[in-house]
Amino acid sequence: MVKKIILENQTGVDPKFNLWTQEALDEMLNLFPEFKDKFEVVARGNYKPQGSEIDQAAFDALTLGDEKDLYVRLPSGRYLVPYASTDWYIERAKMLSENNGFDAEIFVKLHADANDAEKPITLTLVNDGFDNCAGYGVQNLGFGISVRNFDDSKKELFKNIVKHELGHVFRATYRGRSNIIEQGGQHCTNVDCLMDAAPIGINHFLDKPFCDECMEAMRENLQQLLEDENSLSVNSTSLDDTNHVDSSWKKPLREFYTQTANDRGLQYAENEEAKNFQAQLKANDGSVTNVEASSLDNISLSAADKNGNNQVPNQEHFDDLVKYARKNNMSAIKLGDIKTPEFRARMVLACLSANPPMKIVNMPELNEGFFKDVDAATRQKIEAFTQPQNQNQNQNQNQNQNQNAKPYIISRNKTIVRLEQKEKLGQLSPFEEKMLNYARLDKKSEEEFERAVQRTGDSIDPRTAEHTARTGLKPEDYYYKSKSRKNAAAWKLHLDVVPNRNDPTTKAVSEMLEKLDVEHKVYKGGENGKGMTIYVGSYEDARKLSREINLRFGQNIPKPPVYTDQVGSETMFNRVVSGRIYLQGLFETQYPHGTVEGICPASFGSLSDAKSESFIFAQALNENILPAGTNASQCFGLSGNLDFEKKYIFNAIEAYCAHKLYEKHLGAYYNGRKPDLFESKMFDGIVPDASDPQRAKWDAIATKFENFVAQEYPRGISGMKSIVAGYTPIDFSKLPPAPQNQYQHGRQRQP
Ligand SMILES: [Zn+2]
Ligand SMILES: [Zn+2]
Repeated sequence: MVKKIILENQTGVDPKFNLWTQEALDEMLNLFPEFKDKFEVVARGNYKPQGSEIDQAAFDALTLGDEKDLYVRLPSGRYLVPYASTDWYIERAKMLSENNGFDAEIFVKLHADANDAEKPITLTLVNDGFDNCAGYGVQNLGFGISVRNFDDSKKELFKNIVKHELGHVFRATYRGRSNIIEQGGQHCTNVDCLMDAAPIGINHFLDKPFCDECMEAMRENLQQLLEDENSLSVNSTSLDDTNHVDSSWKKPLREFYTQTANDRGLQYAENEEAKNFQAQLKANDGSVTNVEASSLDNISLSAADKNGNNQVPNQEHFDDLVKYARKNNMSAIKLGDIKTPEFRARMVLACLSANPPMKIVNMPELNEGFFKDVDAATRQKIEAFTQPQNQNQNQNQNQNQNQNAKPYIISRNKTIVRLEQKEKLGQLSPFEEKMLNYARLDKKSEEEFERAVQRTGDSIDPRTAEHTARTGLKPEDYYYKSKSRKNAAAWKLHLDVVPNRNDPTTKAVSEMLEKLDVEHKVYKGGENGKGMTIYVGSYEDARKLSREINLRFGQNIPKPPVYTDQVGSETMFNRVVSGRIYLQGLFETQYPHGTVEGICPASFGSLSDAKSESFIFAQALNENILPAGTNASQCFGLSGNLDFEKKYIFNAIEAYCAHKLYEKHLGAYYNGRKPDLFESKMFDGIVPDASDPQRAKWDAIATKFENFVAQEYPRGISGMKSIVAGYTPIDFSKLPPAPQNQYQHGRQRQP
């Protein structure tokens, strides 16, 4: 998926300015070779498609409902059709600017609201002068530049202004960054940087137009813009009000849902007064489905039966969301704030059943936890789509498989029985002992989760419901963005605190993190026990920070109960702090797969083409690490055929491959100052001992895997190197002295 940059100009702008702008844009994109080919530049001059201007007779024939009040009359007596041409946006922005003449910011924002769900960055050159500035750039939306004070003698200056405004578009200078001055917007105070508050003083070509800080800030922003933004966020809860300049942005939603209602025989009604898009689709049986959107890419669905009782919307409405996303060139779905398992499952099903399947940015693991409280019919359909392609897709066979109920749970319980007998005889190998413990934990977690759901009535996030019941505090989002720390996402930590910053402990931890400038979030949505997430970065920093948290607040933070998400999947840094390593943006799987706690697999490619898993599976089978006859569907991703022991082994080898890859390319950033201790903490009892000849097989697979990644996915390797190179460690000297250290002689030793 590419991001479009559209270049336009007002009627009458000398074409040389377009050429200069293109030159400057090219030079700018050359500064970011890693992103350059993700942009597509479209120069369309004075954009004036057929039908964007009408004559008096056509205008007279309009009724008010046709947005007649938005037409702009030209001196020629003709009219500009709303939202249809470059010149209309310019004239309309002038009207909205009222006494201020021509407000560049209003213009850029209005233009960005164009009915174009591709959300291009739009760069516009105008002849008319803006108030108080030559140009204005808005983050991720575009810029407007007035050419009227430039001529041939000022070509370099003009190009520098273009780059400066692009700097704003790419978010070089954000509030809170260091070396920033608030002067006509945020500007940079580093010498010889084009983001100077008075770029007009820089009128010559610069070899290195931006300082390192500006470059880094732009990189970060581009990474996010290009990788995350192009997805549709789907929620089951109501949305905050939007702040668009006008309501034209609703058009694609209105068109899509009127058409859809029509196709499906539903009645369409819209609340046009609301700031958000709000539509209701009513079925003949009296049930309604509500669609709310605060932008084209943030939608919430809800439904009620004919008596007004809430229900999960029908599957067709989820299928429609995928269609809507496709129609508007979005390449993925993001599971937003979703309150019920069935809602989440139906959204996942809609994505899997689309042709081709729709990617889910934060794809959950399709395990027993995911399917808890999901209708049998929905589950069966999801499992039908997640059968590996080499399986017989025959419908009858699938039905037979599903009559076997939950093979994973049955096989797990059998493992417990078998190994407990061996345990009594004192015959467990270290591997079996570890596997037995994990099986027991998994079983206990499931049973306790069920009890917590019964107690609280909340089937996705019972832990948060308990916090709320105990403290009276409803969950509330809070996000602190680090100002100075770079590449601080790989190791992240979780705390089972009350997900609301009004809780004194949550607040105290958060304040300490802010002193250290450590990014973190307090999160209300479906996190079951992960009230706070802390984005740390390196392993050493994660270790030190966990120690400080435990030391200062440990007595007020609960140990996460066994039914929370982190238990059994994350590594415990101490009693209250758990964590995982996940390289967001480089590798897809953000969940550690049991067996080895805390290491997310280095899998790449989406669910439907997880090449890394198939590769490792084939190797493990070949080396007899997995028993002969093992089927891929018994090992990963898919729920219908999972076999507890085979999956346990597969997860072990998969985690070991990731471990060796991270060890090689992330080094101490990944495993700290004592790599041997780290490895033994993570893998003892799971991987054969170093003295065991079997170990060579594991190492050989890990080496092959690394070569495979280097060949198939070189960005994975280069990305890891740049994470390490750009990392800013936590400055612990900013902390006040710790209180009396009650854990100093404690038992929580760490590698
Ligand atoms: Zn500026
Ligand atoms: Zn700068």
